[in-house]
Amino acid sequence: MAERKERLVVAGNGMAGLRLLEELAKAAPGRYEIAVYGSEPVPAYNRILLSKVLQGGVGREEIELKARSWYEEQGIELRTGEAVVSLDLAARELRTSAGRTDRYDRLVLATGSSAFIPPVSGADKKGVIAFRSLADSDAMLEASRSGRRAAVIGGGLLGLEAARGLLHLGMEAHVVHNAAYLMNRQLDRQAGRLLQAELERQGMRFHLARDTSEVTGIGRASGLRFRDGSRLKADLIVFAVGIRPNVELARAAGLAVRRAVEVDDRMRASDPSVYAVGECAEHRGIAYGLVAPLYDQAKVLARELAGAGGEPYEGSIPYSQLKVAGIEVFSVGDAAGHGEEETVQQAYDGLSGTYRRVLARDGKVTAAVLYGDASEGPALLELVRRGAPPEELAASPASGKAEAGGGLSPREAMAAALPDSATVCECNAVAKAAILEAVAGGCGTAEEVRACTGASRSCGGCRPVVEALVRLGAAGGAQARPGGAAADEA
Ligand SMILES: Cc1cc2nc3c(=O)[nH]c(=O)nc-3n(C[C@H](O)[C@H](O)[C@H](O)COP(=O)(O)OP(=O)(O)OC[C@H]3O[C@@H](n4cnc5c(N)ncnc54)[C@H](O)[C@@H]3O)c2cc1C
Repeated sequence: MAERKERLVVAGNGMAGLRLLEELAKAAPGRYEIAVYGSEPVPAYNRILLSKVLQGGVGREEIELKARSWYEEQGIELRTGEAVVSLDLAARELRTSAGRTDRYDRLVLATGSSAFIPPVSGADKKGVIAFRSLADSDAMLEASRSGRRAAVIGGGLLGLEAARGLLHLGMEAHVVHNAAYLMNRQLDRQAGRLLQAELERQGMRFHLARDTSEVTGIGRASGLRFRDGSRLKADLIVFAVGIRPNVELARAAGLAVRRAVEVDDRMRASDPSVYAVGECAEHRGIAYGLVAPLYDQAKVLARELAGAGGEPYEGSIPYSQLKVAGIEVFSVGDAAGHGEEETVQQAYDGLSGTYRRVLARDGKVTAAVLYGDASEGPALLELVRRGAPPEELAASPASGKAEAGGGLSPREAMAAALPDSATVCECNAVAKAAILEAVAGGCGTAEEVRACTGASRSCGGCRPVVEALVRLGAAGGAQARPGGAAADEA
């Protein structure tokens, strides 16, 4: 008689949960009987691209990550619009919003996060939304048909991307931010000011250093009142002030939870049959809010579930890139220099509108901010990741001085100087070598490289580097650079 397969249930059909299924399909095809519950009505989609859907760069239908037929082909039972509502760890059973009871041998929590709505009076009124899901982006589209003015609360990445989308939809977009400059968690003051000037040129309006105390209006939002007594009229209010991991399910079941579900280096939660991955997981005290770390986690968990062992998950160095057309912003580490970092390089070019600052601490490059031209991002990220000494900046492609000779543009020279092992697309973990291989194999455009390797499929921040590599490859200028900066020097 055939042996019964272990039953694996995944709670959450978002970006991390799906990536786990994809990795598992590679690592241990057919090993488990798999069921997936997702509380949203549609299969997993590329949440990152919601910003581009709003801004008109990508169609709503283009963001689905895998069609239902893929799940069927993999033998995965996919139940959308059905949330897991309670767990019985001792019985290894769960209950769903549809009243179903299901059992599992192993359970993966991949419930992600929800938008945080601060306790502001009136925040539950009609016309107040967050920016997290396809439903939120549909609500913004709908509101833009009848509304004239939107107020976005939060001048971070998400708030600015939402405001840019609302501008594109024809609304007057006002951004309310409680700090003195935009993206103050990722940028320093100068980069924040440059960004603000460009966004103002595009039509956005800003209300900085303002604390919202109330959403005004009877029944429906009609504006905001601030702590200093001033007011702003608005037909639509969008909160983009942060996220909260979805951990109620885990907490109620008795799993160890702090900000998120605590996991070890193999993504195991405090119960031996339960794992967590993605934004709902907390690893070594950190709950990440970007996809690159979540994809690393999914890979480690897939190997664990496949019984294949391998490298543990040891944490990630997150970085940020803004997805607003015509603006390049990159930041890694504490680029605002809130700690004891010292600035080792800083340059502003008023003609090209570019700004660059690199920081170090204890003899290691720890942070960087780029505005106007983010093509050095991959090289700088590599240095921060390695904890390279600042002296390596001079010899690395991240020096900002990649020689533009032999008919190459500075950006092409930068791309050419990157070591082959450098990760160009962080979201999908695509190295320069893989892109060059795709180009050598016949991919003649960035779109073809994207289809072939996945590079630039998510946030799109690496697109300029991918394009430069395609041009280099076509011109026969993509020489192999096997080592890192240190190896190049030796
Ligand atoms: C507009 C926007 C732009 C972004 N841009 C970037 C970017 O440029 N770069 C970047 O790296 N990251 C970006 N992010 C963040 C990125 O999208 C998230 O880090 C990623 O989606 C998290 O994946 P996840 O699977 O952990 O969570 P999610 O993608 O949120 O998926 C979790 C899923 O589980 C479901 N769920 C919750 N509870 C239950 C339950 N009890 N039962 C069943 N299902 C449940 C949720 O409804 C959801 O569908 C962006 C996010 C947004 C909203």
